[in-house]
Amino acid sequence: MSSKQTSDTYIPLASDTELVRRFLDRVDPPQTLSAAEEQDLLNRLKQTLQEKNAKLVAHYYVDSVLQDLAEASGGFVGDSLEMARFGHDCDADILVVAGVRFMGESAKILSPDKKVLMPTLEATCSLDIACPIESFSAFCDEHADREVVVYANTSAAVKARSDWVVTSSIALDVVEHLAEQGKKILWAPDRHLGHYIQQTTGADMLLWDAACIVHEEFKARGLIDMKKVYPEAAVLAHPESPASVLEIADVVGSTTQIIKAAQSLPQMDIIVATDQGIFHKLQQLAPQKNFIIAPTAGNDATCRSCANCPWMAMNSLQRMLMSLEAENNEIEVDAQLAEKAMIPLQRMLNFAAELNVKVEGKA
Ligand code: SF4
Repeated sequence: MSSKQTSDTYIPLASDTELVRRFLDRVDPPQTLSAAEEQDLLNRLKQTLQEKNAKLVAHYYVDSVLQDLAEASGGFVGDSLEMARFGHDCDADILVVAGVRFMGESAKILSPDKKVLMPTLEATCSLDIACPIESFSAFCDEHADREVVVYANTSAAVKARSDWVVTSSIALDVVEHLAEQGKKILWAPDRHLGHYIQQTTGADMLLWDAACIVHEEFKARGLIDMKKVYPEAAVLAHPESPASVLEIADVVGSTTQIIKAAQSLPQMDIIVATDQGIFHKLQQLAPQKNFIIAPTAGNDATCRSCANCPWMAMNSLQRMLMSLEAENNEIEVDAQLAEKAMIPLQRMLNFAAELNVKVEGKA
């Protein structure tokens, strides 16, 4: 964790870059499989999922093979909250979550009676890492006059310390609602999303200073150059991207909002500033369009493979089969903690239902 921002002032606390790099050093690169090996794993996974009454719930950012397997086996592909909701509503005994750890935790919080497995428990998120509960809780205590609003990309403990959990699609509505009531807000952990909400709503927000290592690397200068090559292209950006990128974007939204915009916009060329995993769904739903990844900082960027979350990439067929067969890599959330974390999660769900807003999560 690094610093906090109020207005334009940062208060340095520590460096989160080193913390994130330490985690990244433990990430193994994905292995390449032959077509026959891949097919064998797919067959065994389909059979085991069926035998164990298990459902595979996958995020848009994981490998396309896993997304296809989820859909072909009666599971689900979506954003983080949709994944948790599907897990809650389905009658499976086991949920296999292909995503990152906080998604597994959300699934467990919403489905305490189901066994929740993950291909690896090492798959985490720079936002989660950079918001440890001890310092976050102390920060909340220092600013007890503020309503604590946290993004879904946080640990169960951080969620339990909050008043509201929000996803990227409902964050603006929730903050606007709180600001109308004259409430001041403490926001964590993503600084770019927080800044975007602050600018859009005008709310009084104190920002925790963390970032998504994937979205932070999108660059406005490269985007401007790319627009010269594709002058008619629409630019779709996730709000975890830097403000300079969001200023150029035609649409700023969550993964689900990006997918919808890509389908409905008239432009044939679409530049997308979010994880490349989403291209699989984009190409399925709008095959006639030309999707182009927004430029990043290149090989020197913090992310190991540009616009491709290294933790999402840890979800592989091999790891999934091993986890499912042995029923290991189980997500456990302390029951009392889960009960506390459920309160701000439920508050968001109730708020969304009142607004008749479809709540869409994001990693
Ligand atoms: S893409 Fe970014 S926000 Fe999503 S899991 Fe990876 S590091 Fe976290």
